[in-house]
Amino acid sequence: MIYADNAATTKLSSHALKEMMPFLTDIYGNPSSLYSFGQEAKEHLEDARARIAKILNAEPNEIYFTSGGSESDNQAILSAAVWGSRKGKNHIITTAFEHHAVLHTLKKLEKQGYTVTYLDVHSNGIVTPEQVAEAITENTALVTIMTANNEIGTIQPIAEIGQVCRDKGVWFHTDAVQAVGHIPVDVKAQHIDMLSLSAHKFHGPRGVGVLYARKGVVLSNLIEGGAQERGKRAGTENLAGIVGMTVALEDAVCNMSSNSESIVKLRNRLIDGLSRIEHSALNGDAVQRLPGNVSFCFEGIEGESLLLLLDDKGICASSGSACTSGSLDPSHVLLAIGRVHDVAHGSLRLTITEENTEDEVDYIIKSVEEVVSYLRRISPVWRDLQNGKRSFIL
Ligand SMILES: *Cc1c(COP(=O)(O)O)cnc(C)c1O
Repeated sequence: MIYADNAATTKLSSHALKEMMPFLTDIYGNPSSLYSFGQEAKEHLEDARARIAKILNAEPNEIYFTSGGSESDNQAILSAAVWGSRKGKNHIITTAFEHHAVLHTLKKLEKQGYTVTYLDVHSNGIVTPEQVAEAITENTALVTIMTANNEIGTIQPIAEIGQVCRDKGVWFHTDAVQAVGHIPVDVKAQHIDMLSLSAHKFHGPRGVGVLYARKGVVLSNLIEGGAQERGKRAGTENLAGIVGMTVALEDAVCNMSSNSESIVKLRNRLIDGLSRIEHSALNGDAVQRLPGNVSFCFEGIEGESLLLLLDDKGICASSGSACTSGSLDPSHVLLAIGRVHDVAHGSLRLTITEENTEDEVDYIIKSVEEVVSYLRRISPVWRDLQNGKRSFIL
């Protein structure tokens, strides 16, 4: 099997697993217990917090452990909404191509009377600080813009957007789930007030993440209960997960430059190979993108059939389009960058890591070529394109 869907989740690193084991077996004390067995667990918890803070250039008391990226996104946005309504501000700015953890939370707030501006994304998959500056009003409580997109891998000018928000006194949250561990992230240098990250996107365990909230940002609780996480997130801590996340993040950051160099080489080989397929196009900027992300549209095919046939060839990939209640909706991300429905349906996302090889990349290219030409042979849309009843877009 060739695993090329690392934006969906990654394999747990053996180092992280090894460091987690004692916390799944012997060190099971509750960090809230007063006896020394519990306090030993508490020390490991605080050690993990300090190590993660250091990597983000934050303070330990600005780190809140959560169950992952979705929870962190929800808490960040709902906290800003509560704070905003206390100040009489009910406007939030985001982009049209955020993760659903952000978009669905905002939809909920719209039903409660908040106003949301969805910034257009340029065809290269990037929003500009100027767009953000123009959209901010006296009513704006929050700007939430992802650091890197999970489907097309484009990287946003976060430091510049952060600067705009800081200058205007508006809180800035970024969903950095795809970015942390893959590209440099620094909450101070990038003027970030809140940031979401998730362990399973950088070879840590699933079900654990972080919400960074700058000192002075007032968080509201999603989960009420005990006084864990300084009263902002109740529930007995997932210490094994937290330790695994810390180890995986340290490894990812420590190896970032060498890993990304080799991943970029593989990625460009993959992009070059797939570009040779006629009537195809890379989605998103070729340079401002995550090292491991390859996203393509192929005209005249259905992404779902492509995925199933690639699965038969032992390749795990993703389309980017979501199958919602039986009807096939094209991806909101591809529509946001201006792909028309027909083209957006023929999408393929391949996300690779340092564990993939050149041989695997070559096998993927060959397989995609075969599958695309097979699907085109049996596609009525392709026949119409061929005999001129429809015109090619790509
Ligand atoms: C995966 C992902 C999430 C959700 O994280 P979970 O830990 O799976 O809840 C949120 N945002 C982005 C951009 C993601 O890629």
